[in-house]
Amino acid sequence: MGITHEAELLAQVPTGLLINGRWGPAASGKVFGVEDPATGRTLLSVADAGPEDAMAALDAAVAAQNSWSRVAPRERGEILRRAFELVTARIEDFALLITLEMGKPLAEARGEVAYGAEFLRWFSEEAVRTSGRYSLSPDGKSRLLVTKKPVGPCLLITPWNFPLAMATRKIAPAVAAGCTMVLKSANLTPLTSQLFAAVMQEAGLPAGVLNVIPTSTAGPTTGPLIKDPRLRKLSFTGSTPVGRNLLAAAAGNVLRTSMELGGNAPFIVFEDADLDAAVDGALVAKLRNMGEACTAANRFIVHKSIAGEFAGKFAAKMNTMITARGTHPESTVGPLIDARSRDKVHELVTDAVASGASVVTGGAPVEGPGYFYRPTILTGVREGTRILSEEIFGPVAPIITFTKEAEAVRLANSTEYGLLAIVFTTDFNRGLRMGEQLETGMIGLNAGIISNAAAPFGGVKQSGLGREGGLEGIEEYLYTQYTAIADPHTD
Ligand code: NAD
Repeated sequence: MGITHEAELLAQVPTGLLINGRWGPAASGKVFGVEDPATGRTLLSVADAGPEDAMAALDAAVAAQNSWSRVAPRERGEILRRAFELVTARIEDFALLITLEMGKPLAEARGEVAYGAEFLRWFSEEAVRTSGRYSLSPDGKSRLLVTKKPVGPCLLITPWNFPLAMATRKIAPAVAAGCTMVLKSANLTPLTSQLFAAVMQEAGLPAGVLNVIPTSTAGPTTGPLIKDPRLRKLSFTGSTPVGRNLLAAAAGNVLRTSMELGGNAPFIVFEDADLDAAVDGALVAKLRNMGEACTAANRFIVHKSIAGEFAGKFAAKMNTMITARGTHPESTVGPLIDARSRDKVHELVTDAVASGASVVTGGAPVEGPGYFYRPTILTGVREGTRILSEEIFGPVAPIITFTKEAEAVRLANSTEYGLLAIVFTTDFNRGLRMGEQLETGMIGLNAGIISNAAAPFGGVKQSGLGREGGLEGIEEYLYTQYTAIADPHTD
């Protein structure tokens, strides 16, 4: 997989905007460059949409909505199924593209392609299962008919950390439900969405159903769409501060919203845990995606009696990781997405150390090119330190200790976020008890990774609103309509 393959693949990526089934330049003629975070080199430039292009994309989505919603559910499902087959057949191309623009090691990128494709398969099956109900009114004088209808044109905004999966997790249920859409991909990683949109066309998606507008000016470009009364839904995945602003903007238009926001996952290890399993779980929960995941373990809350042994074993595993460009066959930790992210990670580590934490391993950036950071473990981190309350989004594991179960619960819940909590214990009842007390949308019980297209993904508190995947995922794109049927023959 050399330079030639990279160049050949990049040559296949559409670089225009996709509006009403046609790829074309931005109205302004502007383009922006996409960088390889492992080298700092520009991979490709893509069209840079402005408000005028965004409005043309919404026009196309609005024009296609009525006919698209009348396409039979089975046909919508079969388009998704074909897209699943096409993405799966091109797993190597998608994986390489993800690695090039986002940085993760190829093996992980293949994992993302499999996970991302799974939403296409899952929702191809769900497209035909949006049934309603029919019942007699309690007074027996009328009938109630309840049906589900597509919400209508949607704006989908995705982050850079999972360039394929975050797009399919929204596009697949929207297609299944019969909605049209405008996708604003992340400006740091638009290429995967570009190739994926071409695959959706090849799978038979009609013109105007999926419109794609990469842009370097997210706010000004999408702002007018959020105000437009023809838009019916905003689905956003990204940081909590941006999500909050978008929610406020969406309120003006009373839009349906789905918000998948930031996380601050606690990783709790009890004294009765299978320690080797906990260390293996910790490694993936922390280092998958270089720690750049909303579900990444952000705080390790470990029982005092085993904290030293846990830190030692965890550090030994971390030291076997190989930090290199994701295309390197032995790479297990790629670069962070940009210089700003790497500097923020180092700032959090420096702040924790200044407040009394000790570095067990790592603790520094790697010399460039690229934005690499050494996998790091910190012990003795004080409560109240920034690294425990902010999303680290890097390969850094701060460890704090507890002695009583109630203390573990208190520490875990002492955050504005509520996406995921991970618990390692061999006591089944304790595991269930923890689930009952933890304020998160998802729990990993002896599991470091929980993502699954068949499961409802999402958070509570400031981690967001709504669920993606599972039986719940399609509901985000449907509204309920009730018809009262009077019976004139009732006495
Ligand atoms: P971000 O909030 O900076 O950007 C997310 C998307 O919003 C990007 O496409 C960006 O261009 C766009 N955006 C930014 N400002 C905007 C504006 N004013 N109007 C419209 N769009 C705007 O987040 P990011 O750095 O791309 O992603 C990392 C964040 O995403 C982390 O906080 C992470 O936890 C979160 N995330 C959450 C989930 C989840 O499912 N809960 C999944 C992945 C990532």
